[in-house]
Amino acid sequence: MAAKIAPKAISAISRPSTIAPALRNARGHAAAVEPPAPGPGVARAYYRDGDVRTNWRRSEIQKIFDGPLMETIFRAATVHRMHHDASRIQMCTLMNIKTGGCSEDCKYCSQSSRYSTETKATRLVDIEPVLEAARQAKANGSTRFCMGAAWRDLAGRKSGFEKILKMVTEVRGMGMEVCTTLGMLSPEQAKRLKEAGLSAYNHNLDTSREFYPEVISTRSYDERLATIEAVRQAGISVCSGGILGLGEKDEDRVGLIHEVSRMPAHPESFPVNTLVPIEGTPLEKNDPVEVHTVLRTIATARIVLPNTIIRLAAGRHTFSETEQAMAFMAGANAIFTGERMLTTPCSGWDEDKSMLGRWGLRGQRSFEDQESLEIPQAQTEAAVSATA
Ligand code: SF4
Repeated sequence: MAAKIAPKAISAISRPSTIAPALRNARGHAAAVEPPAPGPGVARAYYRDGDVRTNWRRSEIQKIFDGPLMETIFRAATVHRMHHDASRIQMCTLMNIKTGGCSEDCKYCSQSSRYSTETKATRLVDIEPVLEAARQAKANGSTRFCMGAAWRDLAGRKSGFEKILKMVTEVRGMGMEVCTTLGMLSPEQAKRLKEAGLSAYNHNLDTSREFYPEVISTRSYDERLATIEAVRQAGISVCSGGILGLGEKDEDRVGLIHEVSRMPAHPESFPVNTLVPIEGTPLEKNDPVEVHTVLRTIATARIVLPNTIIRLAAGRHTFSETEQAMAFMAGANAIFTGERMLTTPCSGWDEDKSMLGRWGLRGQRSFEDQESLEIPQAQTEAAVSATA
């Protein structure tokens, strides 16, 4: 006679769970999520993989990060399938709309005016070339168009900001998600970007709070968090992730994930960049980051941030196709595609579409699950007449 399986046991088998210590022991490794410690007035709480939580403890995340890599990837792949269509990878294109001459001192960046690199400072690009680049990106399958400007903030850039607002409205009017990365923002500037139709704003935390001062001194961690808060308050999606290979340790990679996991709402997007060392920058001689570290970071982020889009960003060209496929298995579900990614090389659309096809993956449609494409008609018309 077949043994009866209790309903609770079935659920534990079909969905990785933190409930039963026996199940955890039977697996022989630390695959389970450690619940918050109960204390006076704090009831013991249990969580399951796939739960969206903003009360992660750093030790819990470290335990996931340190687990056997293949198990962590399997677990992340399972969480991924609870929240996303695992056959879809979003293709995004990033355009530099203002290059170089930045007053900040981010040690990895070729656009800082403090370092002697080959990157030459340019003025803010005109509207039409940006729109042409967005059209080309859309025609090639990108559904998100990001615009980056190398500067500390928008102070004293009134006309430049107006121009960027028009770019945002126009690109959004093409049916693409629009993201910008323009340095620090005030709440008022964030509000105006939202009104122009901005879908998302990128502002990376880069690394853990402790390691951050080793990399940047001109802008504090808390200033970064304040910009992210302004973006969130304006109703814009938050894109905030980090860079691997800055000289940080595993604890810092965990610290970064912990920081974003504790935000009142997780960032909708978490880019994982790997350092592309640039001659002339203080980090030019840094060792390349190992693919296992990248996979471990992505898998951990996927488990901790189940709903978030995880972007395999700068440095992807240094990984083989198989390594990239492992990253998709670990939970990455967006890539940057196009001719360049800011100042670093990038894979082209045809190359990426062929790669995705070989692994049974396909591009993601814009706003597939989340947003409406509607933009107030008046905004689109105003932008068209202003650029005509
Ligand atoms: S990363 Fe951004 S803020 Fe930092 S130096 Fe480069 S362009 Fe400036």
